[in-house]
Amino acid sequence: MNSHSSGDPSLDIVAARKKYQQERDKRLRSDGTAQFNYGTEAFTHFIADPFANPDFDRAPINDAVDVIIIGGGFGGLLTAARLYQQGICDVRIIEKGADVGGTWYWNRFPGARCDTEAYIYMPLLEELGYIPREKYASGVEIREHCERIAKTHGVYDKACFQTQATELRWDQDSARWLLKTDRGDNMRCRFVCTSAGILHRAKLPDIPGIHDFEGRVFHTSRWDYDYTGGSPTERMSKLKNKSVGVVGTGATAIQCIPELAIDAQQLYVFQRTPSSIDVRNNQPTDAEWQNQLQPGWQRERIDNFNYLLSGIPVEEDLVNDGWTSVVHMTQEHIAEHGLPEGEEAMAQMSEVVDLKKMSQLRARVEQQVNSSETAEALKPWYRQWCKRPCFHDSYLDTYNRDNVTLVDTQGRGVEKILPNAVVVNGETYPVDCLVFATGFDFFATVTRRLQCTIIGKNGLSLADKWANGVSSLFGLHTRGFPNLFILSNDQSTNTVNFTHTLDEQAKHIAYVIEQSKARDLRSVDVDAQAETEWVEKILAQNSPMKQLIAECTPSFYNNEGNPDARPGQNTFITNTTEYFKILQDWRDNNAFEGLETLHE
Ligand code: NDP
Repeated sequence: MNSHSSGDPSLDIVAARKKYQQERDKRLRSDGTAQFNYGTEAFTHFIADPFANPDFDRAPINDAVDVIIIGGGFGGLLTAARLYQQGICDVRIIEKGADVGGTWYWNRFPGARCDTEAYIYMPLLEELGYIPREKYASGVEIREHCERIAKTHGVYDKACFQTQATELRWDQDSARWLLKTDRGDNMRCRFVCTSAGILHRAKLPDIPGIHDFEGRVFHTSRWDYDYTGGSPTERMSKLKNKSVGVVGTGATAIQCIPELAIDAQQLYVFQRTPSSIDVRNNQPTDAEWQNQLQPGWQRERIDNFNYLLSGIPVEEDLVNDGWTSVVHMTQEHIAEHGLPEGEEAMAQMSEVVDLKKMSQLRARVEQQVNSSETAEALKPWYRQWCKRPCFHDSYLDTYNRDNVTLVDTQGRGVEKILPNAVVVNGETYPVDCLVFATGFDFFATVTRRLQCTIIGKNGLSLADKWANGVSSLFGLHTRGFPNLFILSNDQSTNTVNFTHTLDEQAKHIAYVIEQSKARDLRSVDVDAQAETEWVEKILAQNSPMKQLIAECTPSFYNNEGNPDARPGQNTFITNTTEYFKILQDWRDNNAFEGLETLHE
């Protein structure tokens, strides 16, 4: 590490730290997460489903099934698929949307694409005999794949769409869960899985005047193609005479902004903090590569990516993209300077590598954006993992168009909204349409995301049990709620290849359910000691990321600059490989360790 500063934050760490802190301080706000609204009464029109038939109706259902899964995104679908593979087919998915897909059902904004390589992100490719069309799949292709998984695993037979679970109650006498919904259903089941999704509840900033806007306004997860014209695969022809404003410049915005720029007469981008934009380099799938794939290739590729990101040496980087590039930079650093010894030296090395990466990304902005003022505003001044890293090959170039204006709010955000305009730094920008690319209630607990009351043994509600922090075994089960399984990243793990985590959890749940039936068990619950030990394990984690994230510029990663406001135990095991191994070993042990079982 440099011992003295050259004063250039692109070159030395002391200057970079100072610059990062200045940029962070500009953005810290006393209201933290309270600056956002999550669909209260006044915002309900923002979260209505534009893709569903509003006249849909059906008679209430009063019946019993083996397993109910709440949520029809990848988590719910993978659980259904893994159960199906175990021969458990009496399964019903309850889903608020009008079809499966979860995130990919809701997020149909133009340009939507998954940043994680399709060959590892889209699950069950070998089982379904499907190869994605490109290295990074479009939202449309991913949604079609969700439908493919559903069709192949009998999901549509019993699924209930446009249905919101409202209450889940454990009945001790019958050892069954009773589920009520907003369609008057009363269903019974032996097992329940919840998979509410981490990008589920749209988040809107409480900007003064937001309700007074008289033009068209919507959130990116509810794209209004009626207004814009077009579709995820067709141009938005109705925007050609319109002035459009986008609030936000996160991973979603950077994908839809280049598309809006092509179609709108004028585009204003209201930026609070710029994202870091690395190279995407998408490619059509190479037929030659596809033809030489051997059985087991997808598992191998998923594991290879996961090992690399967990710091486990592998012979070859099979995915070899922006996510793994930092690993290579670290390896090059070690080859040149030797392996650092001790935690402090390791932390210093990662800071050096991070500065190198961020300097590259800031240089990329300079190379691609013609106006030096705009380029300066687009430079990200923070460590790469302070914000969700982004990848795009035309986003930066979009700012060279005459019809696109970057409105840099200097970290303060939009000042106010008028009936026909947006105000920033006292300047008024007239817009016909406002698009909120302002993200989701990412770190909300499961109970808040599900919007469903869950009552376990002895009338205990899950919201009350977890009021001061999540408490679970593996993040999947919680004591007092027998036969209930929760897919989420609280107390489990988190990886950029999110479907990998979901699939490992789904396999685990399917195993426990199949074994419960095979062993004639009435119920499985968590042993108190096992739950305490798991919570202690989570709390004892000395993750280098923890301190780093706390010092970051505000984002949903650090509770908008207020990391201590979130219980320390509502986090995950940072080493994904360790978490997956714990689950695998537990299953291999075949002893239901840490679970209390009651026989029929
Ligand atoms: P984010 O929360 O990442 O971004 C929200 C944006 O809104 C930020 O730029 C934020 O600024 C801005 N914002 C919030 N309030 C205001 C305000 N008052 N005035 C101006 N700007 C404001 O949401 P996204 O939807 O972009 O992304 C959410 C997640 O979705 C990502 O983290 C990623 O996990 C996922 N995603 C994944 C993709 C994939 O390829 N797999 C693609 C797209 C999204 P600030 O940064 O200052 O807070």
